[in-house]
Amino acid sequence: MTNLAAYTDHVGLWRDQLRAWVPDDIFDAHVHLGPPEAMGKISEARTAEALTTFPSFTYEQCRDFYDGLFSTKRVVGRIAFGFPLREVNIAAANEYLAETARRDPTVHPFILADPHDIPATIDQFRQIEKTGVRFAGVKPYFDLLRIDKPNSVFHCRDIDFAPPELLAFMHDEQLALMQHTSSIGIGDPAVREFVELVATKYRGIKLILAHMGRYTEPRQFDDFFASPQIEHKNVFLEMSSASSASVYRQVLSRRDLWDRLLFGTDVPFGLITGVEHWSDTHGPVFLTRDNYVWSDAKMNAEFAAERRKLSYNTYHVIDALKTAMDELRLCEADERDLKDRIFRRNALTHILGAKG
Ligand SMILES: [Zn+2]
Repeated sequence: MTNLAAYTDHVGLWRDQLRAWVPDDIFDAHVHLGPPEAMGKISEARTAEALTTFPSFTYEQCRDFYDGLFSTKRVVGRIAFGFPLREVNIAAANEYLAETARRDPTVHPFILADPHDIPATIDQFRQIEKTGVRFAGVKPYFDLLRIDKPNSVFHCRDIDFAPPELLAFMHDEQLALMQHTSSIGIGDPAVREFVELVATKYRGIKLILAHMGRYTEPRQFDDFFASPQIEHKNVFLEMSSASSASVYRQVLSRRDLWDRLLFGTDVPFGLITGVEHWSDTHGPVFLTRDNYVWSDAKMNAEFAAERRKLSYNTYHVIDALKTAMDELRLCEADERDLKDRIFRRNALTHILGAKG
């Protein structure tokens, strides 16, 4: 498959720092699974967008990759959904997840929602439910709006791809919502209005803010942290892609938020070898060790030294959490308990309703 190289511990981050620290049982709350057949042709122009980096990732590829990525650990379950790109066959992508969940009950599927045909999404949910597989949540995504502009996340609102008709259905069915926010993310007041709407009007929904709500610079997270929207107990934060220790420092500073933080990798996208980075000259950039189709060659040359220190994005996410947690200086039992909440229990109990 394109762009998925064999596992490498590029800078020894897993071996030297993370392996001894990460708990033995991991629940991954953000995984994309899909076979190549479910994806249509991606045009040359679209390959310039990072979201097209991986067009597919099968259940087997994911399982095999975990063996390297989290060696000596067990991935005890995951929340999984298809690749929400405009080129995808949504029905086929959802069918693959249903089939996968039938084979492996530790895979908790979320259904991709077609923003242009919510009745079709609800209909597929019902049809698959009759076969004994129930989607635990919904994955809407801005790209499925098919807005004909680059970086179309900046040309839409959350409510456009998670419309009221879908939210009402989800409220009735008590489903979780994996929300990749629009615009700059949670620092945008309009995004926080969406959070307010879901948390108060559709209270049956468990709202998961993917990538810690998204931010282009960490201080935008501060605006959310200071807002009334963080008080809603049905709002959760999923960690993938967010590699700034400062956001975890904030969340961990409030004990009541320890139950609302979820570890997720966003594999295969979490395997992109890089991190968000604030540059005085370039503003918010995404630095990567490897060269991707969408990489900026000039910037890569300029940041050559920083890039050599990089590894898989998910490793840097864990490392940022570790930095923030180490500063808490918890006793061993409390630290073990907190890690178990973030890496396993919160998703299982608060999102999926399992016991213990
Ligand atoms: Zn994702």
